[in-house]
Amino acid sequence: MANIIGSDVDVVVVGAGNAACASAASAVENGSSVVMIETAPEDMRGGNSAFTGGAFRFAHNGVDDLMHLCPSLADEDLENIDFGTYTHDQYYDDVFRMTQYRADGDMCEILVTNSYETAKWMTTYGVDLIPAMGRQAFKVDGKFRFWGGLALRINGGGEQLVKNWHEQMSKIGVDVLYECTAIGLLHDEGKGVHGVRVRYQGQEHDIAAKSVILACGSFESNAEMRARYLGPGWDLAKVRGTAFNNGAGLQMALDLGAMPYGHFSGAHAVAWDLNAPPYGDITIGDQFQKHNVPFAVVLNSKGERFRDEGEDFHSYVYARYGGEILKQPGMCAFQIFDAKVQHLLRSEYRCRFLTKYSADTIEELAGKIEGMDSARMIKTIEEFNSACRTDIPFDPNVHDGRCTEGLSIDKSNWANPIDEPPFDAYAVTAGVTFTFGGVKVSGRTEVERADGSAIKGLYAAGEMVGGLYFHGYASGTGLMAGATFGRIAGREAAVHAGTSN
Ligand SMILES: Cc1cc2nc3c(=O)[nH]c(=O)nc-3n(C[C@H](O)[C@H](O)[C@H](O)COP(=O)(O)OP(=O)(O)OC[C@H]3O[C@@H](n4cnc5c(N)ncnc54)[C@H](O)[C@@H]3O)c2cc1C
Repeated sequence: MANIIGSDVDVVVVGAGNAACASAASAVENGSSVVMIETAPEDMRGGNSAFTGGAFRFAHNGVDDLMHLCPSLADEDLENIDFGTYTHDQYYDDVFRMTQYRADGDMCEILVTNSYETAKWMTTYGVDLIPAMGRQAFKVDGKFRFWGGLALRINGGGEQLVKNWHEQMSKIGVDVLYECTAIGLLHDEGKGVHGVRVRYQGQEHDIAAKSVILACGSFESNAEMRARYLGPGWDLAKVRGTAFNNGAGLQMALDLGAMPYGHFSGAHAVAWDLNAPPYGDITIGDQFQKHNVPFAVVLNSKGERFRDEGEDFHSYVYARYGGEILKQPGMCAFQIFDAKVQHLLRSEYRCRFLTKYSADTIEELAGKIEGMDSARMIKTIEEFNSACRTDIPFDPNVHDGRCTEGLSIDKSNWANPIDEPPFDAYAVTAGVTFTFGGVKVSGRTEVERADGSAIKGLYAAGEMVGGLYFHGYASGTGLMAGATFGRIAGREAAVHAGTSN
């Protein structure tokens, strides 16, 4: 390891998650020698990427395109699976709708137009893509129908993705230094960025490099930065993933004059088990999440509903659930289901660690939930049940329009009366996934200053780049954006290092 610290390399990649590995692979493809530095120990490597469920959003024109990425699809009962299409236009529409039309148009174009090719490229590095049935399509009348653009997911989720990437890193000769923390960038006006200062084995060292790629996540693990940028209360949110994304990369780049970019007071945050640990637990992965809000009635501890649970498919709204829960008394909420929808609930509702209450009557359930205004809860559910338009058929695969009428907050779709025992309530709080603010990069992923000039030799990819996410997020975009921009960063860093044209 000491030789690595002392020797010059073409490219240093900071971080060891999906964006970092995509960057490193691409830099090697373009002739560069690469060293990767990871602040975490080896068994905790890979940041948030290791915690993902493996949702992967890319454009496609139907089953023939999917077959190229997942040849085993030919063995599926394709008569009874409707994958639909997910065209560039559908992808653009989703990103712009989610972000209230604020996403950076150039970045969005790079993401969308490269997404299918990026997915294909990932399969050449051994990433196994499989159909996302159950999570993204329900069986109705014997047929699965996909609703949300996430036809295939990464087999084995993030844990397998990171394991696979690191096997590839060894194969292609990328050295990874664990428990090695980037603390600064080496820079002078003439040469630009020419290496990284790290803390390693209790000492500071300089690693010289011709190009540096920052792929070291956002600042979601840092309570002080969450409170500073996201606002009061966010310091108390639970963190869904790694404890190591403390905003160090962002700070280093800002210190050099990089332009802060994107939605700095925004974050991706979901409904997360009330008693989950403060940071993610890799043995549980993403299973503390509770995404089936569209089939629930969600109450705060005053026994009141506070959102339209049927606004949209969870993939398009789940990233806002956390922020809404943080505003409720005690920063908690309760998702209530009856027996009718049990078969539709995702695997996370069968996780070993659940804060769950069950009962055979609503009255009994209301009495069991700690801190709940039970009288108000019973009344809210009675009112909700009477307001459901049960004359409209229920269909979980489409916006079915089965709404409530006459409530102060109506439910727009999938409104079933909560009347069939047993009844279950899941207690949730906010789990922050990642933060939206980051640095500004060019189309070549060069980190830019406020005046639009590039900081020579410095590239960034993944969650630490701002501009793609505002207000909301379409699930499966994070891994795709990390891989797409990481691949570009690796290539451009190699060009700057002089190992590629
Ligand atoms: C529970 C959960 C589930 C998710 N599910 C999905 C999903 O299904 N699909 C999807 O697309 N996205 C999902 N996401 C979001 C996704 O994880 C991210 O968008 C993506 O993984 C970000 O990749 P990245 O490489 O930018 O960052 P990360 O994977 O977080 O990697 C950052 C790396 O930088 C390292 N690092 C940080 N600071 C330093 C430093 N100073 N020096 C050296 N190293 C440093 C970290 O240790 C880590 O290795 C999920 C996230 C979570 C938490």
